[in-house]
Amino acid sequence: MFNLKFDPGLCEKCTTYDCIMDCQYITMGLDEAREERMKIIRGEDSKILHDCVTCYACEEYCPYANHPFYHIVEMQEKLGINPVPKPITKSQVVAMAPSGRIKHKAGTGPLVNLCYFPMLTGLIRGKLFKDASFFAGSDYMCQVMFLHFARDSVMKDRIPPMIEKIHEQYVSKRKSPEMVCFHDECYGTYTSWAPAHGIPVPFTPVHLFDYLRGELQDRKADINKLNIKAAYQRPCSNRLAPETDKAVDEIFDLIGVERAGREYDRKNALCCAAVLEAQQRFDQAEEVRARNLDDMKATGASHVVFNCPMCFFTLSGRVSELGMAPTLMSELCIQAVGDK
Ligand code: SF4
Ligand code: SF4
Repeated sequence: MFNLKFDPGLCEKCTTYDCIMDCQYITMGLDEAREERMKIIRGEDSKILHDCVTCYACEEYCPYANHPFYHIVEMQEKLGINPVPKPITKSQVVAMAPSGRIKHKAGTGPLVNLCYFPMLTGLIRGKLFKDASFFAGSDYMCQVMFLHFARDSVMKDRIPPMIEKIHEQYVSKRKSPEMVCFHDECYGTYTSWAPAHGIPVPFTPVHLFDYLRGELQDRKADINKLNIKAAYQRPCSNRLAPETDKAVDEIFDLIGVERAGREYDRKNALCCAAVLEAQQRFDQAEEVRARNLDDMKATGASHVVFNCPMCFFTLSGRVSELGMAPTLMSELCIQAVGDK
């Protein structure tokens, strides 16, 4: 019923094959990249379908917004290729199903969607989130993590009713159609994955960074510049909304943070490697993680800033061991306006 907007004609005419040539995990020459992309288009098996680590980045790399990664995921499922072992995939499909486990609070301030992270509701506090409403839990989980598991069917089954539920239970009862997405993954669901599949979104998703930047601009007088240098860990799901990355620079400027210039940031960002472990690629996970952490450390940064809770859970221990302070973007902003 919901079909991916993918145009094979664009790939046939493509001269750069950026979706593969820029991939940090698959190395191919231009001719091979074209040949393998064409195999996928013809519905045939391709080494790309097996070697893809599901980093989402080719959604950003394709200059024509032709959704090469969503197409890979669709074809992996069609051909029965499982990036993550089937028993783990099956348990995740069950664990992440809507189950009525929800947490919410009503307020007169902004509406914040915390996705599957009810344990993070304590982060919604202070001047920046004054009297916020929030909701979190399995019923509002965006489900886009199943891109890592080649379960297009799970997303197509669960995302449309979840969107309707959020609208009916929260957004439609408010004056403003805006909903702040605390997690990049949710923002990517509503602004990229759903439109790419023709699924209507009856509310206005606001990226957390855009929300924080606006609040900070309105409260310049409250800001105590932090005067620190921080390495930024860009999450895989930010590849679905690359236009929001510039807000990191703007927020950092407002709160007195120097964004450490490093090799693995922006277009070259590296995955936190949690998904590589799920895929049982343990050696590759460690190699990617070590490269990423060494690069952060080499900048002389005192802090490492995360937005994705999964990246934070995965890397914060190793970041601390290296003498840097791991922190979430929202916490850094709360601190800059003097809230505890
Ligand atoms: S997905 Fe985009 S970059 Fe890749 S071959 Fe097709 S048009 Fe080119
Ligand atoms: S999702 Fe990442 S690993 Fe997979 S093909 Fe695209 S860029 Fe490469």
